[in-house]
Amino acid sequence: MEWAEQRRMMVERQLRARGIRDERVLAAMDEIPREEFVPTPYKGASYADDPAPIGHGQTISQPYMVALMAQCLELTGAETVLEVGAGCGYHAAVLGALASRVITIERIPELAETARRNLEKTGRADNITVICGDGAKGWPECAPYEGISVAAAAEGAPPALIEQLAEGGRMVIPVGGGWEQELRAIRKQGGEISSRVATWCRFVPLR
Ligand code: SAH
Repeated sequence: MEWAEQRRMMVERQLRARGIRDERVLAAMDEIPREEFVPTPYKGASYADDPAPIGHGQTISQPYMVALMAQCLELTGAETVLEVGAGCGYHAAVLGALASRVITIERIPELAETARRNLEKTGRADNITVICGDGAKGWPECAPYEGISVAAAAEGAPPALIEQLAEGGRMVIPVGGGWEQELRAIRKQGGEISSRVATWCRFVPLR
């Protein structure tokens, strides 16, 4: 089956059927070629309902998780978004299709380079900046962010990220120290932080 056909089936069966409702998110997931981000040995399973290894003990998230996290950010296209944990760059590419500008931080230099290369190769690099560093500190240079997406699990939302979240902004982050975490959707409104559990999830730890 052609990649485009596999991608369309992924959107229908894994995303729409499971309750992803944001049409812009569904369109972005139908647009970004995940096979260009998945390392060669796993390419054939690019549209499987699973995460895949990307080297250095890290993984590219399951498509459903990327879509759910993107939906939690309620993006309209005007936002500046911060991602923590660029990995192979796939999630950043999806966010780049949904927002005005994306800053993504990756602590492993080789993965930051891979993300940069994958984003260039797929023509997605124009509004996405990959930075190598510690994402738990955020990136104050471009703050505040209307959306913050954290792709690694923490004991709680790092204070620097809460600080850099815009008034009215949304953050999505896996919280918990164990094997499984809760995916928390956080909102800053009137200077107050509220949060709800969007689902259970399994992420690599934030270092
Ligand atoms: N969004 C990625 C998946 C990332 S997996 C994708 O689409 O492929 C989580 C990533 O977070 C890993 O690459 C890991 O190296 C990175 N990471 C963990 N702690 C970090 C930190 N403190 N700062 C930046 N990146 C971090």
